[in-house]
Amino acid sequence: MRPALYPGQLDRYSRHIIMDDVGPAGQAALLDTDVLVVGAGGLGSPVLQYIAAAGIGRLGIVDDDTVERSNLQRQVIHRDGDVGRPKVESAREFITDLNPDVTVDTHEMRLAADNVTELVAGYDIVVDASDNFATRFLVNDACTLAGIPFSHGAVFRFEGQVTTFTGDCPCYRCLFPKAPPPGTVPDCSTAGVLGVLPGTIGCLQATDVLKLAMGYGETLAGRLLAFDAGAMTVDEVPVAPNPDCPVCGPDPEIEHVEAATYEGRCSLTD
Ligand SMILES: [Zn+2]
Repeated sequence: MRPALYPGQLDRYSRHIIMDDVGPAGQAALLDTDVLVVGAGGLGSPVLQYIAAAGIGRLGIVDDDTVERSNLQRQVIHRDGDVGRPKVESAREFITDLNPDVTVDTHEMRLAADNVTELVAGYDIVVDASDNFATRFLVNDACTLAGIPFSHGAVFRFEGQVTTFTGDCPCYRCLFPKAPPPGTVPDCSTAGVLGVLPGTIGCLQATDVLKLAMGYGETLAGRLLAFDAGAMTVDEVPVAPNPDCPVCGPDPEIEHVEAATYEGRCSLTD
C-alpha cells in the first residue's frame, strides 16, 4: 500500500491526478519509482528535468565529468555559473530547487564493468543517456542480466534514435552485437549536434520512463524510432530478438559483466 499524497503534492501534480489514466494511484507510483540516469549531458538534462518535475521519487545520476562552456548549447540542466563544477552537483542542485519531493543520489564516477552491476541494482528503471558505445554496452549487459528495463537514446548531428528495452530479450546487443572499434565512430565533440536534438530524444526517453513507472500504454519496446531533424521525419525500425545474441540469446557468451571486455573510453557526456 503506497502512502497517500499530501496536500502540497495534490496541488503540484494536479494535472496528472485529474487524468483518469494517471490519477492519484499513477502519481503515487511515480513517487515510488527509483530511476538511474547514466550521463548528465545533452540527453540526461531533459530526462532529469522532466522526470524530476513529474515526481519520480528517487533519482540516481552517474557522471564523472565537469561542466564545460561548450556543453551549455544543449545540456540545459547546467548554467554558465556551473562551468568547472561536477555535472552531478549542478544537476542535483537544479532538481532539488525544482522539486523537493525528489531524493537525488549522485554517483560521481565513470560507469565501468566493476561497478555497473552494483550501481543499477538499486533502481527500477535505468536511462542510458551516455554518448559512447562502451557505456551503452555496459548498461545493456548489466540491465539485461538483472532484468531491469532501460531506455536507450543517442544523438548525432541532425539525427537521433530512441528505444526501450524491458530487461529481457531483445536487448541492445540484439541490434548491435559488438561495439565498433574505438575512434571509428565520431561523438558529439568531434561531429557536432544540433542543440535542441537531445531535448527531443531525451523527452521521448522521459516519456517511456513515466509510462514504465505507471505501467501505462505502449512503450518503445521492440521498436526503435529514428528521427531526422533535417527532414523532420521519424522512421520506426522493428527490433527483433537475435538468437545469437551474446547476452540474451539461448547460449549467451556474457553471463557476468565483470568478465566482459568493454572498449572505447571516451567521455560519458561530451
Ligand atoms: Zn540481446
